[in-house]
Amino acid sequence: MDPRVYRYVCPGRVVNIQRSNGLIHKATVKEVNLQQSSVSVEWCEAGVVKGKEIEIDDVITINPELAEELPTAEVKENFPLQENVTTQIQKRRSTLSKIPAPREAVTSNVSAPEQKIAAVRGRSRMSVITESQHNLQENEMGVDPRASTQIRNNLAVPAGRTRASRLRCAPEIVLPNGNGITEDNLPSARISSSQSPVRRKSNIVKEMEKMKNRREEKRAQLSEIRTKRAQEIDSSCPNWEFARMIREFRATLDCQPISISDPIEEHRICVCVRKRPLNKQEINKKECDVITVPSKCVLLVHEPKQKVDLTKYLETQTFRFDFSFDECASNEMVYRFTARPLVQTIFEGGKATCFAYGQTGSGKTHTMGGDFSGRAQNASKGIYAFASQDVFFLLSQPRYRSQDLDVYVTFFEIYNGKVFDLLNKKAKLRVLEDGKQQVQVVGLQEKQVSCSEDVIRMIEMGSACRTSGQTFANASSSRSHACFQIILRQRGKLVGKFSLVDLAGNERGADTSSADRQTRMEGAEINKSLLALKECIRALGQNKSHTPFRESKLTQVLRDSFIGTNSRTCMIAMISPGMSSCEYTLNTLRYADRVKELSPHNGGGETQNQMEIENEETEMSGGNVGLQCSLSKDEEEDLSPHLFSFREAMIQIGEREEKVVEQLRELRQKMTTELDYLLGIAEQPDYDLEMFVSRAKYFIEESSRNFLSARETLDALEAAMQLEEQASKKIRKQRHQ
Ligand code: ADP
Ligand code: MG
Repeated sequence: MDPRVYRYVCPGRVVNIQRSNGLIHKATVKEVNLQQSSVSVEWCEAGVVKGKEIEIDDVITINPELAEELPTAEVKENFPLQENVTTQIQKRRSTLSKIPAPREAVTSNVSAPEQKIAAVRGRSRMSVITESQHNLQENEMGVDPRASTQIRNNLAVPAGRTRASRLRCAPEIVLPNGNGITEDNLPSARISSSQSPVRRKSNIVKEMEKMKNRREEKRAQLSEIRTKRAQEIDSSCPNWEFARMIREFRATLDCQPISISDPIEEHRICVCVRKRPLNKQEINKKECDVITVPSKCVLLVHEPKQKVDLTKYLETQTFRFDFSFDECASNEMVYRFTARPLVQTIFEGGKATCFAYGQTGSGKTHTMGGDFSGRAQNASKGIYAFASQDVFFLLSQPRYRSQDLDVYVTFFEIYNGKVFDLLNKKAKLRVLEDGKQQVQVVGLQEKQVSCSEDVIRMIEMGSACRTSGQTFANASSSRSHACFQIILRQRGKLVGKFSLVDLAGNERGADTSSADRQTRMEGAEINKSLLALKECIRALGQNKSHTPFRESKLTQVLRDSFIGTNSRTCMIAMISPGMSSCEYTLNTLRYADRVKELSPHNGGGETQNQMEIENEETEMSGGNVGLQCSLSKDEEEDLSPHLFSFREAMIQIGEREEKVVEQLRELRQKMTTELDYLLGIAEQPDYDLEMFVSRAKYFIEESSRNFLSARETLDALEAAMQLEEQASKKIRKQRHQ
C-alpha cells in the first residue's frame, strides 16, 4: 500500500462504507491505524452513533475516487487488478447485451421483433432470423427474457466477480436491499485485519481462485442440467430445439390479441387469418406450434430451417392482414370482425361473399358450419348460422319490418366443376349462362326460412348430405367447395345475396401430379378455381369491369357477387399451427396476402400492382396453388410446356365431357319423345302408314347423325384424356428427376 494513500483517507474525511448486509452509506473517518492498515469510521443511525473498523483496502475499493486522486501510474501499481476488473466488467456487459434475447438476432437492422412488426405497414411480409445457440442459461433457469438485462447483470456479476469488481460496480447493481451479497459471503481471510497488505493481496488472489472454481463448478452443474433437460425434451419432443427457440422468441413479445372491444372496420375486401389450436393428436405427437399472433393484425410463422453446417435456426416471417385471430378466438369473435359487417350489405341491395380458405383440417368447416362438440357439428355456432341470425335480427328492425322481405337459403356443393344440390339429395345441377352473361344454376332449390331455427335445420341437412357416404380418409368434402347462400327477396324480386363458401382444401390443388386421373382432374379443378377466385376478388378490389369468372365453375356461379358497386367480400385464411403444416400454411398466407395486397387502398403502388398482375398471369397459365412453394423458379420453367399442355388438356376434357353429356341428354329426350309418338301412332287402328314410314326413317337417320356426333365428341374427349395423361406423366417424371 502506498503510504501516500493515507493522506486521502485522513480523519474527518467522509467516505462510503459497506455494511455487512451489503448496504452502502456514508461514514466519517475517525482514526487511521497505519499498522493495521485500517481506519475507524463512525456514522449516525436512528439517532445513535455507530462505529466500525475497516481495512483501508476496502475503503479504497469502495471509494475509487480516492485512488484516482493519486497519479495514474501509481494507481496502476497500487491496484494491479483494478484495470482488469473494469475491462472485464465492460466486456461482459457488451457480451451480455449480445446474448440474444432473440431480438438481437434479428436481420434487416431492426433490433426487436416488436419494432419489426410495428414497422410492417404497406408490404405485409418480412423475415426475422433467430439462431439457437443462446439463452440456454436464462431458459433453464426459467427466466423471462423480458427481464433479462436486469437478471443477466445480477447473475453475471457473481459468476465473474472478484472482490474488487463487486465493490466497484456495487453502486450500480447493489441496490438498497443489497441483492443478498453480504460480507458473510466473502472469504473470512480477507476480513482479518492482522495481516500485512502483501499477505492480503495474495488473499485476494486466493479468493479470486476460489470464486473462479465456484464459477466453474456452477457452469458444470448448469451444463449437466442442460444436457439432462435436452435429453428429456429430446426423447419426448422431436423438435425441441425449435420449440425452445420459438418459446424464447415469444417471451420477447407482448402479445395483445384481438378483443371484443376492438373497433370493427369496414372493408370492401377484408382478408383475415385464423389459427386453430393444436388438436389432441398433434399434442400427443408433441407437434410444435409454429404460429404466433402478437396483435390483432399480425401473424408470425416461425419456419424451421437448417444451415449447411446443421445449425438450426428459425426464419420468422411476418404477415399482416385486416385481422388475425389466435387459437383462443371463438367462432363468434371471428364472425364479429369478418362476415358480420357484410350482413347489412344485402339489405341495401348488394352482394356479399365470405370465403374460408386453407388446407384440409385447418378449420374451414368448423368456422363456417359450426364447431364440433364430439362427433356432432353444432350448426348454431358457425358463421352460416350467425349470419342468418343477424339477417333475421335486421329484418325485425322497424326500418326493414315493413318492406315485405322474404329470406331463402340455398346450399350446394361444387365438386370437380359440377354443382350438386345439398338441399335436394345431391341432385346434379346444370349451370347455364344466357346471352347477357346471367349465370343460372338450373333447378337449385331455394328454401324459404322464417327463423334461425329453420336455417339451422337446413345447415344440418345440407352438411349431412355433403359428408354422407364418405370415409374420413377419402372425404370428398375436402375436394369440394360448399356454398351456403342467404337470399333476400321482395315479392319474389332479388334484393341481396350473401354467399358463404367453405372452399376445398388448397393442398388438393397439388394433386395434379397424382397417378390417378380422377384425383388429377379434381386437383386441376380446385387449382383453377382458387386461382380464378383470387383474380375475381382482385378485379372487385380494382373496380374492373371484367372479371375472369368463366375460369371456373365456382367463380362462374358466384359471378354476380363479384360485380356491381355494392359488392363486398371477406376471406378468412385458416391455418393449422403445427410445424408439419408449415409449408402449406405459408402457401395459404401468401395466397391471402396477394388477395389483399392487390386492393388499392392498401397503398400498393402502380409498379407493384403491375408486377403482381404479371405474376398472376404466369400463375394462371401454368401455376398451381398447391405447388406454390414446392417448385423452384427453374423447375417451374422446365415444367411450363408440360404444365401448359396439361392445363390445355384439362380445359378440353372439361368442355368435351360437358358437350357429350349434353348431347346424350338431348338424344335421350328426342328419342323418348319421338319413339313415344311413333309407337303411339302405331297403336291406333287406322293410321297413315306412309307418314309413319317416312317419319320413322327420318327419326332413325337423324338419331344416327346425333349418335355419330356424340361419338366424335367422345373421340375428342378420349384424345384430350390421352394428352392429359402424357403431360401429367412428363410432369411427374421431371419432378422426380
Ligand atoms: P377443414 O374444414 O378446414 O378441413 P375442419 O373444420 O374440419 O377443417 O377442422 C378440422 C378439425 O379441427 C376438426 O376436428 C375441428 O373441430 C378442429 N378445429 C378446427 N378449428 C378449430 C378451432 N378454432 N378450435 C377448436 N377446434 C378446431
Ligand atoms: Mg371441411
